[in-house]
Amino acid sequence: MTTRVVLVGGGLANGLIAWRLQSNPGVELTVLEREATLGGNHTWSFHDTDVSEDQMRWLRPFVAASWAGHDVVFPERRRSLEGGYLSITAEQFHATLGGVLGDRVRFGTAVRSLGPDRVELDTGEVLQADVVLDGRGPGPVPGLEVRYQKFLGQFLELREEHGLTRPLLMDGTIPQQDGYRFVYTLPFGPRTVLIEDTYYSDTPDLDVPALRAEVSGYAARRGYAVTRMLREETGVLPIVLAGDPQRIWPAAEAGLPRTGIRAGLFHHTTGYSLPEAAGLADELARLAASPGGLGTSATVGPLIRRRFLRRWRQQAFYRMLNRLLFVAARPDERYRIMQHFYRLPEPTVARFYAGRSTFGDAFRILTGKPPIPIPRALWSLLKPLPRTTPQPKESA
Ligand SMILES: Cc1cc2nc3c(=O)[nH]c(=O)nc-3n(C[C@H](O)[C@H](O)[C@H](O)COP(=O)(O)OP(=O)(O)OC[C@H]3O[C@@H](n4cnc5c(N)ncnc54)[C@H](O)[C@@H]3O)c2cc1C
Repeated sequence: MTTRVVLVGGGLANGLIAWRLQSNPGVELTVLEREATLGGNHTWSFHDTDVSEDQMRWLRPFVAASWAGHDVVFPERRRSLEGGYLSITAEQFHATLGGVLGDRVRFGTAVRSLGPDRVELDTGEVLQADVVLDGRGPGPVPGLEVRYQKFLGQFLELREEHGLTRPLLMDGTIPQQDGYRFVYTLPFGPRTVLIEDTYYSDTPDLDVPALRAEVSGYAARRGYAVTRMLREETGVLPIVLAGDPQRIWPAAEAGLPRTGIRAGLFHHTTGYSLPEAAGLADELARLAASPGGLGTSATVGPLIRRRFLRRWRQQAFYRMLNRLLFVAARPDERYRIMQHFYRLPEPTVARFYAGRSTFGDAFRILTGKPPIPIPRALWSLLKPLPRTTPQPKESA
């Protein structure tokens, strides 16, 4: 028996699911993407320890660049870490996935409405399916109290070689403004770098011209003569302080499967979602390969919702850290929390980024000479949060 699966949106989460399901003869796939390419305008990066060895094997075809080790630098700490770092570019994602899926992707196809067994396009055309996966990316989320990781990144071509051999994931030595601020530099080629000006901020506003000027200024201070700006991307990612998971994905909507950040599957402190997306793709591939197959939206939806609820519970510690970062620390002293964090043993750092911190890690993260006064830290955990109008959003 063939299971008809319609994936709404050809972004990161649905793309990885399609990649894992496409060779299963029992699955008939259709990806509906409103844009002309898969993956939008993103560079998705991750630590090699964020994913399993098996996931790394099947993610490899998407990887555009990888490095053995990375560095971070703060006013009072400089650290070289051994963990590998990798980047998937949307171009490579589109070329690799699109090449395999062929006419199973419909580009320029916007979905107007969807239900458990049907999808209606903007044109009025209706597609029937056994499983509909809603991976349309960010949308309005009730019941969530967030702050933001926001950034503007530019791929720059330089006249001379930059000499960098590994990523500088955080340069926190720059002037602190609009929250915790750092610059992220990935050396994609000998004369190509991605430079991102990044803020852990209370507001989602992105002053694009100002951030462009900051990137140019940073490149100039590093002595880079820029010959061309190859590509630019912006992001405003949600950093979760608190929320009600039953409102975010109500039980009554369990039969309508969501994926990716729409399913709440992202790291609550970094806003990143690649490891979560890989984990969900694996789970659905295993289910599709089982004797019962994928089933219908009525079976797949509750399974993904349970995954969301489990990951929500498991991330309670990260939400608490976010409150320390955003409520206890003044904006100009937030960098100290990250600087303090990077004193920790590398496995603790790695498990944090993978979203798999243990009790021992939590203890290590919270102990040591506190970067902010303890009474203020405790108060931030107890006092009611000032409500904002939380609209996790991003632009690309
Ligand atoms: C610039 C940027 C950089 C990021 N970098 C990283 C990173 O380095 N590492 C990391 O782990 N995370 C990163 N993230 C965070 C997160 O992983 C991404 O936002 C990720 O792309 C989310 O995946 P998704 O599949 O949920 O949504 P998306 O990848 O946004 O995919 C949604 C897709 O649905 C399509 N769509 C929307 N509405 C419709 C409709 N009505 N009909 C048809 N199609 C529709 C969109 O065009 C899009 O292609 C980044 C985010 C941004 C914005």
